[in-house]
Amino acid sequence: MCGIIGYVGSRECKPVLLHGLKRLEYRGYDSSGIALLEKSGLEYKRAVGVLQNLERVADGHESAATTGLGHTRWATHGGVTEQNAHPLAAEDGHIAVVLNGIVENYRELRTELVDRGHVFTSETDAETVTHLVEEAYQGDLLEAVRTVYAQLEGHFAFAVIHEKHPGQLVGARLGCPMVIGLADDEAFLASNAAAFLRDTRSVQFPDDGDVVLVEPSGSTFVRADDGTPVEHEVIELDWDDEGAEKMGYETFMLKEIHEQPQAVADTIG
Ligand code: GLU
Repeated sequence: MCGIIGYVGSRECKPVLLHGLKRLEYRGYDSSGIALLEKSGLEYKRAVGVLQNLERVADGHESAATTGLGHTRWATHGGVTEQNAHPLAAEDGHIAVVLNGIVENYRELRTELVDRGHVFTSETDAETVTHLVEEAYQGDLLEAVRTVYAQLEGHFAFAVIHEKHPGQLVGARLGCPMVIGLADDEAFLASNAAAFLRDTRSVQFPDDGDVVLVEPSGSTFVRADDGTPVEHEVIELDWDDEGAEKMGYETFMLKEIHEQPQAVADTIG
């Protein structure tokens, strides 16, 4: 289970995503990728191996995107190939999905999706989510993710962006960590706060079964099953500097484990 970083705001997001992935590197990975929501549509950049390989590919691309997703993958389903690296796309190219963990019932889902005419481009369990979101989408990305969540089994955290929704990230989790970071007119979604700690220490922890819509102005949580709104407290992390991100993570756990055991459990997964 590896890393997710998503950004919405007013800054160019390519460097923000690459920085976030670098901070998540210690978790281990075999490939990585980013999806950038440009004026012309979604651009996907993926590479096998070390992050420098992704940086090289991404360097060649002029970007003005301010909405994007990044992922470091530790392959569980499908080989270590560029094709299997995330973010993954569905055939209409309007959606990008990153997923950590495992969709246990992907075989049944994939068979049903193929029967309904979907064409898969990767061997991953995660690609089922892209096609399901594409099918469920009727103009509201959060509602589409709610519909899809009900069909998934396993332990995972995923995030989606859609060409028609610049400035929106939608995420959900089941048994894998996810944290939302809130700052002035920008926001983050990640598997670990280390990915955005340079920019904000104000965080919220979604529960299993929540679907979260992240926008530059803030976050909105609903329960996946019935759409009921949920409130989550904003917690101020007190790690002290960027250089201490990895160490700070461990110190944070030791220091905070008595005060906020649930928050710590969520962060470490
Ligand atoms: N199961 C997914 C895959 O193999 C995600 C693995 C991960 O957590 O990186 O693509």
